[in-house]
Amino acid sequence: MSRFVVPPSARSWVKVTEGSDFPIQNLPFGLIAPKGRNEAVAVAIGDYALDLLALSEAGLVSEADFPILDSFIELQGESLGVLRRCVFDLLSEDNPRLRDDKKLRERALVPLDKANPQVPIPPNAFVDFYSGIHHASNVGRMFRPDQPPLLPNYRWVPIGYNGRASSVVASGTPILRPKGQRKPPEADAPVFGPSASLDFELEMGFYLAEGSEMGKRITCSAAEDHMLGLVIVNDWSARDFQAWEYQPLGPFLSKSFATTVSPWIVTLDALEPFRIEGMEQDPEPLPHLRPHGRPHFDVELEVWLQSSKMKAPQLVCRSNMKHLYWSMSQQLAHLTSNGTPVEFGDLYASGTISGEEEGSFGSMLELTWRGAKPLQLSETGETRAFLEDGDSVVMRAYAQGDGYRVGFGECRGTIQSAKP
Ligand code: CA
Repeated sequence: MSRFVVPPSARSWVKVTEGSDFPIQNLPFGLIAPKGRNEAVAVAIGDYALDLLALSEAGLVSEADFPILDSFIELQGESLGVLRRCVFDLLSEDNPRLRDDKKLRERALVPLDKANPQVPIPPNAFVDFYSGIHHASNVGRMFRPDQPPLLPNYRWVPIGYNGRASSVVASGTPILRPKGQRKPPEADAPVFGPSASLDFELEMGFYLAEGSEMGKRITCSAAEDHMLGLVIVNDWSARDFQAWEYQPLGPFLSKSFATTVSPWIVTLDALEPFRIEGMEQDPEPLPHLRPHGRPHFDVELEVWLQSSKMKAPQLVCRSNMKHLYWSMSQQLAHLTSNGTPVEFGDLYASGTISGEEEGSFGSMLELTWRGAKPLQLSETGETRAFLEDGDSVVMRAYAQGDGYRVGFGECRGTIQSAKP
């Protein structure tokens, strides 16, 4: 698939402030629902969402080529690339077509704070991988201190599990503290109640553009042609439920209560300049999982935490997508290697992406080392072992180019107390 990379020198007539996540080099897709208007597919530019349904109604985007712009259903694979190129033309600084049409411009450009972005594509399937090797090692050290940090299969198989698609929510959706079963170490029997160790997990995910038939597998070299683009994923986790339920079949209710995604799908075209080889894989993967090209991306990741008493959030984690052991292509190749079919709109999350050092860990579990080293919130002097009611978690991600940044916007959630 040929990638459309917008030159670093390109500019839009829409004002884009320095450090914005959404310069003309990005042009990510989302689904907006401004008050009093229909849901529409949109592209983020500067501080605005460009409503593509409005452009279609005005004849600026061909209705024949892109018939349905109130959802992504018809926009698979190549057609999304063509649409992105069309949007690029309309937003280029020397193109007067939309720039000089005041009435249409005012209708089509919705300020981001009024755009009410939704889950970009409500997924039919959600899979959570475990490809952050430093996270997997840290968890191993904590939970199996007498054994090697990584289980013997880790460097051979991209570990994952089928998660719950129905609880994938948009950024900003409040997160209810879940209730569940946990067994305090000193107790003889488990108890049922609100989680006492609620956590976040810093992950990235990819949406699928093009599915596959049952019996067909997607190879590492073809995998990216099936991808629509990337979002930030917060895989909220109840550690106390997880510790009690995870053996022998893996996490279940400890993860399924909510998963937050960021609003804008950043395309692989926009991320093309930020490709990297990624870390060395040793042992060499089996032939069907051998990496193809440069399958990883240099994307900076941040987690910010704000209690209800704080006026501003505090940076608690700085990491990078380069810490993934298995690439997204290898994940998809592995997932389909048994012939299972995959579908448009499936969401695949990476697993928690922690760096090697303290300060780069992508979960409270690791940041506080299971609560043993509570986090200090400097503004108020509060401490945190895990998340408390009223706490807000904001994740951000961006690739830094020369004079511009390809960003993902915010992936935000605030904890609400459990229902009585
Ligand atoms: Ca996870």
